[in-house]
Amino acid sequence: MPELPEVEVTRQGITPHLIDQQVTALIVRNPSLRWPVPDIAQQIVGQTIRHIRRRAKYLLIDTDAGTTIVHLGMSGSLRIVSRSTKVEKHDHIDLVMASGKILRFNDPRRFGAWLWCELPEAAHPLLSKLGPEPLQSEFNVDYLAHALAGKKKAIKLCLMDNHIVVGVGNIYANEALFAAGIHPQTEAGRIDNERLTLLVAEVKQILANAIKQGGTTLKDFTNAEGKPGYFAQKLHVYGRGGDTCTQCGNLLSEIKLGQRATVFCGLCQRR
Ligand SMILES: [Zn+2]
Repeated sequence: MPELPEVEVTRQGITPHLIDQQVTALIVRNPSLRWPVPDIAQQIVGQTIRHIRRRAKYLLIDTDAGTTIVHLGMSGSLRIVSRSTKVEKHDHIDLVMASGKILRFNDPRRFGAWLWCELPEAAHPLLSKLGPEPLQSEFNVDYLAHALAGKKKAIKLCLMDNHIVVGVGNIYANEALFAAGIHPQTEAGRIDNERLTLLVAEVKQILANAIKQGGTTLKDFTNAEGKPGYFAQKLHVYGRGGDTCTQCGNLLSEIKLGQRATVFCGLCQRR
């Protein structure tokens, strides 16, 4: 599943091909995504792409008439193709530019979304209740201590809660808690500020590293053969239950927490 780093790398990869370009067509081959794709050709054709932004795992493609909101869901990907690129199975949507370049959305499982918003997008129901971006300064120890105060829920569930902070998916929650030495089941409200400071720093660093690494692996968003959106990363705990801890050699434990695989080292993550 594309996580925040993949979405950010996608944004960086497609932006230079689309910015200041005029839209000449919107082709929707299959509107049955997570929500029906609205027929917005009238609104968007003739518009110029002004910015491509990211909020949580949503990509926001701005024009003067409104913003296209794209979510990659479980299996979606975006790439830049030309008019001569053959349409493949699951290529559901094309946004065609005057330059001849096409932003093509492929999504085998169709849990992704392609929506349109004319409000200030922050007021859109999908975006209005989101917590801060993990890589921005609003996500800091004071904020997190306040957000977690009195919470009895496990820290890992809080870290993955979009109302508290966006974009920390299962992989990154596992990895950040390991790096900060915090047991995933610890009551969120009981973690002291020293540990929370470390946790905030690790969340930022792990996501920033993943974006940097993904940017290197996936710099070519115009490769028709490529499947942008997924990249391998060096992981210490995620997917390694039963393996040895990279820090102490102890066997890593695996449990389910909120139905999600949770891997930790019982020795390194005691607090
Ligand atoms: Zn260990």
